[in-house]
Amino acid sequence: MKLSVVGTGYVGLVTGTCFADMGNEVICVDNDPKKLELLNNQIVPIYEPGLERLFKRNIEKERLTFTDNLKQAVNNSDIIFLSLPTPQDEDGSADLKYVFAVAEEIGKILKENEDKDFKIIVNKSTVPVGTSEKTTALIKKAGVENFEVVSNPEFLREGFAVDDFMKPERVVIGAKSEQAKNIMKSLYEPFVRQGNPILIMDPQSSEVTKYAANSFLATKITFMNELANFCEAVGADVDLVRKGMGTDSRIGKRFLFPGIGYGGSCFPKDVNALIKTSIEKNSEMTLLKKVDQVNKKQKSVLLNKILNHFNGNIKGKKFAIWGLAFKPNTDDMREAPSITIIKGLLENGATVSAYDPAAMENAKFHFGDKIEYVHEQYDALKNSDALLILTEWNEFRNPEFDRIDNLLNQKLIFDGRNVYSTKQMNDLGYTYYSIGRVPIKK
Ligand code: NAD
Repeated sequence: MKLSVVGTGYVGLVTGTCFADMGNEVICVDNDPKKLELLNNQIVPIYEPGLERLFKRNIEKERLTFTDNLKQAVNNSDIIFLSLPTPQDEDGSADLKYVFAVAEEIGKILKENEDKDFKIIVNKSTVPVGTSEKTTALIKKAGVENFEVVSNPEFLREGFAVDDFMKPERVVIGAKSEQAKNIMKSLYEPFVRQGNPILIMDPQSSEVTKYAANSFLATKITFMNELANFCEAVGADVDLVRKGMGTDSRIGKRFLFPGIGYGGSCFPKDVNALIKTSIEKNSEMTLLKKVDQVNKKQKSVLLNKILNHFNGNIKGKKFAIWGLAFKPNTDDMREAPSITIIKGLLENGATVSAYDPAAMENAKFHFGDKIEYVHEQYDALKNSDALLILTEWNEFRNPEFDRIDNLLNQKLIFDGRNVYSTKQMNDLGYTYYSIGRVPIKK
């Protein structure tokens, strides 16, 4: 099939590349000239394991191209995917200006070519319920009829995006006509050969499904974060509790790991957007309001432990940080808990030396030259008063503790991701603070 993908970010680039890999002809459109230059030079602008090989292969096969020319892309496609940003607006709602601006342009382009075949415009961005209808109205306003707007939310996880796209646990399609449903189904069939479902529904249900999934996951992790704080207060170990509860198949073992709050480009804004829509529709989701509040508070939990340890005074102290990205296997810094923690350290007069395997370039956007960036994890430790673990990258799991001991001013670790066992830390003689486990004080 002939496809275009408008917005070539974390979702759009993976979507375009994976569709191309199934033999489709894909034109990716972006309006960021820097990004386009990288893409046209066969450079992947984001860190996403496994993407580069597929990306290069499909460019070489001439199935994957990049342009800023929306008209050319629309005129040469049967299906046009919108994977545009839907950031949080000031009032918490999803800002749809990027989606609507492109929809209007598509309307004008289609109007110029009225003799053209039926087109499908797909909202792959996460958009509030009712957006398919609004997008349809915008395109119709241009005087176009032979098209349908379809909702097809994306569930990929950064860090596993290629695998998730290639073997989705489910594909959700919200469409009205049999024609659109059949075209979308045949596009996705090669991805679900193992039998995972393609769930066809109405656009409203499809739009709500995406917010429901993200908000439920945000709630699950927030429950564990609050439970972890409670465990610590009563001398229980959240790791043992997690295992005890997760073996119940109704609860499940996944997504029960407590930490320093969820971040990223999706959960925070999607929870807020659902709260906002629910208020607008007089069906307020009060539970989610609490989830958002608890999560914001959780981002300061580690900072509070640090301040308490140093009796409220960290002026002149230096902290080594391992991990800046909001989660491992991505370079994405959007809403990362490291931002809250590092800002807090700096405001209290401390200095920071930081290492992340992928996110340091993006971190510079947030901290500029206010912190030191090192390219080797042990370099951050030199003359530091403590090590902070803020992202659970694999390479932090089994470090050379002898080197850490030699470089740090004292054996002190604040672990926001429970990467080490308390027994190991006790045996190694560390003062060790983690989440939901009784601290070890030496
Ligand atoms: P992103 O910011 O990484 O990418 C968006 C891209 O759109 C950028 O490259 C930007 O330059 C481009 N763009 C903006 N305006 C444009 C225009 N007028 N014409 C052409 N290109 C334009 O965003 P993302 O993380 O890929 O997210 C896109 C959507 O997918 C959002 O709604 C998000 O909530 C949703 N989503 C994201 C993830 C994720 O893990 N990142 C997962 C599922 C769903």
